[in-house]
Amino acid sequence: MTILEDRPVRARPEGGTLLEQFEFGLDAPICLTWELTYACNLECAHCLSSSGRRDPRELSTEQCEAVIDELQRMQVFYVNIGGGEPTVRPDFWHLVEYAVAHDVGVKFSTNGVRLTPERAAWLAATDYVDVQISLDGATAEVNDHVRGPGSYDTAIAALRNLHEAGFRDAKLSVVCTRQNIGQLDEFKAIADQYGATLRLTRLRPSGRGADVWDELHPLPEQQRVLYDWLVAHGEGVLTGDSFFHLAPFGEKLPGLNLCGAGRVVCLIDPIGDVYACPFAIHDEFLAGNLLTDGGFQRVWQNSELFAELREPQTGGACSSCQFFDSCRGGCMAAKFFTGLPLDGPDPECVQGFGEQALEGLGDQRRLPASSQDHSRLVPGRNEPVMLQLRRREEIEAGLTSGQAAPPVSACAESPLAGFTPSA
Ligand code: SF4
Ligand code: SF4
Repeated sequence: MTILEDRPVRARPEGGTLLEQFEFGLDAPICLTWELTYACNLECAHCLSSSGRRDPRELSTEQCEAVIDELQRMQVFYVNIGGGEPTVRPDFWHLVEYAVAHDVGVKFSTNGVRLTPERAAWLAATDYVDVQISLDGATAEVNDHVRGPGSYDTAIAALRNLHEAGFRDAKLSVVCTRQNIGQLDEFKAIADQYGATLRLTRLRPSGRGADVWDELHPLPEQQRVLYDWLVAHGEGVLTGDSFFHLAPFGEKLPGLNLCGAGRVVCLIDPIGDVYACPFAIHDEFLAGNLLTDGGFQRVWQNSELFAELREPQTGGACSSCQFFDSCRGGCMAAKFFTGLPLDGPDPECVQGFGEQALEGLGDQRRLPASSQDHSRLVPGRNEPVMLQLRRREEIEAGLTSGQAAPPVSACAESPLAGFTPSA
């Protein structure tokens, strides 16, 4: 990681589309994720940050406050806080209050473990705070398969507590997997029941997700089911930048149709390392550290990595594809962590080129070694019990016989929300 002292700044185009402006990068990220801790009471099978144990170098309360002060100076209007399970930090609620008091709105992701009725009432009375509850199955069986025993009940209790306390418009956040694509209607019903908004996100092969991606990622036929469902029912469903690789199925879906890594998106991790994207926690995508490299603003605006990511990107093997304008080759993190080249097709390319590329690698396929792993060394109480997954042939048989797909499991809901390009 290198910080460039005199980085030549590429002037953003006057006018033009939002996407054109985003490709040049912004003075401050509009989708900033901050993982406050790697500690977690659960140990989800697909955790993107391999969380479980607290890192002893975690930023102190005072250091976190200094980060918030800097975000306020940079006019970062809100931050997505996650982890790990951020609410297990003893100073978590203080930091939420501190951020709001300093004009930095907070949306935090939680498995619900600390959302008691009392805390829900406090949240309902606090402005500029949004809550996102993670649930990866519309039934306990499907959810607990990846998130651990009891985690379904915990998440539902948190949703209920928020609803009964009068908290408006919590988010129900679902990672789409092979086991839950058949539950999209049920997820929507749960969200509606508790006055929440459904948010669907893509399973990326990051962190422990790399270990289970082959088993959990939706099959090609299910990608089509997902796309069709979003076209038919997706109004009001949040997706961020999760599904722009599905655009070649037809019309573009709402959301950010661009990989915003290092341009409008980034991640601060619990020790102050800054990565290009929450799904790219790897040394290859480490831009700098806000403690040792002179603060977050300096890393964001002057890191060599981010300067590279803001340069015009070639489409590589995808550039001749008729769908390149909408798909853009898909997700950088998904390619990297499945061992595919960054300038080739997404592993879930709807034309099947990603699958072909993976098959072509055969024994030569090399997954990048994880740069860090915070998984607990001994099994935790809530460690997920991986149930027997349905075999691919069973799923395909169900789909071709017209049955519903089998049951199965940031950035901001809209990274563009509230953003007005400067003239
Ligand atoms: S690497 Fe993937 S997840 Fe990260 S910003 Fe790009 S498209 Fe989104
Ligand atoms: S070939 Fe590349 S651009 Fe075309 S659909 Fe596949 S991933 Fe997208």
